Amino acid sequence: MQEYFVDLHVHIGRSSSGMITKRGTANNLTFGNIAYEAHHRKGIQVIGVVDCVSPWIIKDIEELLDAGELEEVPGGGMVYSDNLVILLGSEIETREKHGCSAHSLMFFPSLSIVKEYSRIMDNHMTNLEYNATVSRLTGQELFDIADSLGGIFIPAHVFTPYKGMYGNCADRLIDIFNLSSFEKIPSIELGLSADTDMASQISELDTKTFLSNSDAHSLGRMGREYNIMLLDSLCFDEVVKALRNQDGRRITANYGLDPKLGKYYRTFCKKCENITELSPPVLECPNNPKHGIVMGVLDRLVMIRDREEPPGDNNRPPYHYQVPLQFIPGLGPKTIDRLIDAFGNEMNILHKASREQIGGIVSESITDMIVGAREGALSFSHGGGGKYGRVKNKG
Ligand SMILES: [Zn+2]
Ligand SMILES: [Zn+2]
Repeated sequence: MQEYFVDLHVHIGRSSSGMITKRGTANNLTFGNIAYEAHHRKGIQVIGVVDCVSPWIIKDIEELLDAGELEEVPGGGMVYSDNLVILLGSEIETREKHGCSAHSLMFFPSLSIVKEYSRIMDNHMTNLEYNATVSRLTGQELFDIADSLGGIFIPAHVFTPYKGMYGNCADRLIDIFNLSSFEKIPSIELGLSADTDMASQISELDTKTFLSNSDAHSLGRMGREYNIMLLDSLCFDEVVKALRNQDGRRITANYGLDPKLGKYYRTFCKKCENITELSPPVLECPNNPKHGIVMGVLDRLVMIRDREEPPGDNNRPPYHYQVPLQFIPGLGPKTIDRLIDAFGNEMNILHKASREQIGGIVSESITDMIVGAREGALSFSHGGGGKYGRVKNKG
């Protein structure tokens, strides 16, 4: 078995014909470009694309198959070049009690099943092509559809205030799913503003693995969070085994942002435009409780957790903090290109290249920050209310 880089939450913004399938995404975020970027610039070996409910995306995939650029793997998934497998998936919004809504990810082994899934979802969504997210289903109903098709179901960015199940809908997943369905859910996605230690404070998650995915809406942001998985080969079945901790397949490490950099880490007052620095939980604006707020992930977690410390026998893989190159102050796209040309891909720069090697290309202060990020030596201003946290320049 071998370790692979895995990012299971990447959005496709456009079909190759230029049709918009996901608003708020970059123009060049097509299936073909994602595959190229993941393989050649990011060094990722498994990516999950999550807009495959759209007939336009399905058409793109069929064309790439016809052209011989993609090939279906017997164990599920699509191989692109030798060393990249693409899992076909979908992120869908469901409506729960009290009118709240949340996102979940699903992945399916083959294109024929994705087509069947897309046909079924046409009954539960308006505008399947353009706005391929919002459904009229509950989480339980969506789970049942995914499960009946042999897919896997993963609640997405579970703590985020707008569309996360814990962030916005329920104190416990078991309030959303029946017990047998809950038990079949292999994993939850942490989201950019949470890490393993934070999520471990909810004991119902003890049987779930944790995913750190990028939720990329642009090529550059792919891989800003990812997982390392120990797999026997690159295919859907192997990834599912790793998510379920089966037969020695497993997640061996999570790499993600320091949660403080995430967009929703702390509570934000929309009126005062202030990200709180008071000790959590901050559940209202300290200046005026009538002001509208965006709840912070940390604040919400402190409110709903059922323990403060993870259990001692917790066999969780390590969660390594990383600061993607885009977050380094003073490091522009041209210099990032030069670094990638020199070291092959971003993962090599963040985790492998030596101080001397990096220093040969960029200034000493930027070298300090790239290397400092590995050692947890950087300080950050906290994110909140949709604004990313920032790396503080030293000195
Ligand atoms: Zn989402
Ligand atoms: Zn306020």
